[in-house]
Amino acid sequence: MISLRDVVVRYPGAARPALDGVNLEVAAGETVALVGPSGSGKTTLLRTINGLVPISAGSVLVDGIAVGELRGRALRGLRTRLAMIAQHHDLVDRLSVHQNVMAGALGRWSTAHALRYLVFPLESELDEARAALERVSIPEKLWAPTRELSGGERQRVAIARALVQQPEAILADEPVASLDPRLGTQIIGLLCRLTRESGIALICSLHQVQFAQDYFDRVVLVERGSLCEVESKQPVT
Ligand code: ADP
Ligand code: MG
Repeated sequence: MISLRDVVVRYPGAARPALDGVNLEVAAGETVALVGPSGSGKTTLLRTINGLVPISAGSVLVDGIAVGELRGRALRGLRTRLAMIAQHHDLVDRLSVHQNVMAGALGRWSTAHALRYLVFPLESELDEARAALERVSIPEKLWAPTRELSGGERQRVAIARALVQQPEAILADEPVASLDPRLGTQIIGLLCRLTRESGIALICSLHQVQFAQDYFDRVVLVERGSLCEVESKQPVT
């Protein structure tokens, strides 16, 4: 579903490429962990798949479509098929939880629809938000102010928002880096289980090689812009 061939990414003025001949094939529904030290190229790799970083050489294909050649509406179309989950700071604090969850629907809603939802959500739309929050086990937070959530709850809301987007893949960039290990392992386990259940591919960067080996189908080490796949244990979920 996602295919990178000999991808090189060179940031302007950088001494060495951030991605240096990367090859990676990810099938529909597969869970892949990217593990590597800070500065190794994990964020660049995820942003390259989403068309946020221009590639200097090679190709990135999503369902056979070359991401590097997309512009405007076609690129926005691609991004609705790939959901992003960031480390933190990517929920809107002054909105309520259900509004952040339904931000996942923005790709299929017009601006007028989205604005109407903010002031007058329909019962059917709230049902969709509630169902997504049930999948991440916090349905009681539907009307809660987002700013009052704990770190773990925030990442559950980010996962719920990604599910509402109905993507073909989720690209998660160190989604548990700001959580303690016990909470981190819960959230990673949840993310892997939900994407498997829905047949969504998951590419997730992590610091902790332990989480990667416990939960993911495949573990890929990232070092200085190069990838190296390691043997994964059988995932527990
Ligand atoms: P990681 O996510 O593994 O920490 P990054 O992808 O953020 O790694 O960074 C890989 C390399 O690219 C690093 O050397 C970093 O300094 C460099 N880099 C990242 N983003 C930019 C940018 N926007 N401009 C220039 N260099 C960048
Ligand atoms: Mg990073």
